[in-house]
Amino acid sequence: MNVWIRRTTKRVECRYCGRFIETGEYQVVCTYFMPLKNSSRVWKKQMHFHAKEPYCWVERAITELAMRPRVENRGGVALDISDEVREKRNKVLRRRASVMQRIGAEFEGRQRMPVITHLTEMLENMKLEIESLGGIPKSWA
Ligand SMILES: [Zn+2]
Repeated sequence: MNVWIRRTTKRVECRYCGRFIETGEYQVVCTYFMPLKNSSRVWKKQMHFHAKEPYCWVERAITELAMRPRVENRGGVALDISDEVREKRNKVLRRRASVMQRIGAEFEGRQRMPVITHLTEMLENMKLEIESLGGIPKSWA
């Protein structure tokens, strides 16, 4: 879930109180993402709340907190792999970060296509490599 605040450019109904958030007022936008079954697409839903006077998003957040049991999920689910595999996996992750940086630098700099192609190929190879080391991270998609 993504949450951010923005100034309203087009009046929209507040999900909490049902009244309109007028142009120029602040609103809190919550975006929910749900992966669709049997599909690579993601279902997206946005909700809008009064950000200030009334503080609908605070009310709403407190209500939701009260309803939901506390689940610790920071850092995501740990992979069930051996230390040896994890070490190899981390090395691939670090190498990828460095290749991503080089691609970024190349795009901002000389934009040499052969270099970019080569780096992109490296990324593809890393996908194959990490597949057997606990699977391809979701963020690589
Ligand atoms: Zn409201």
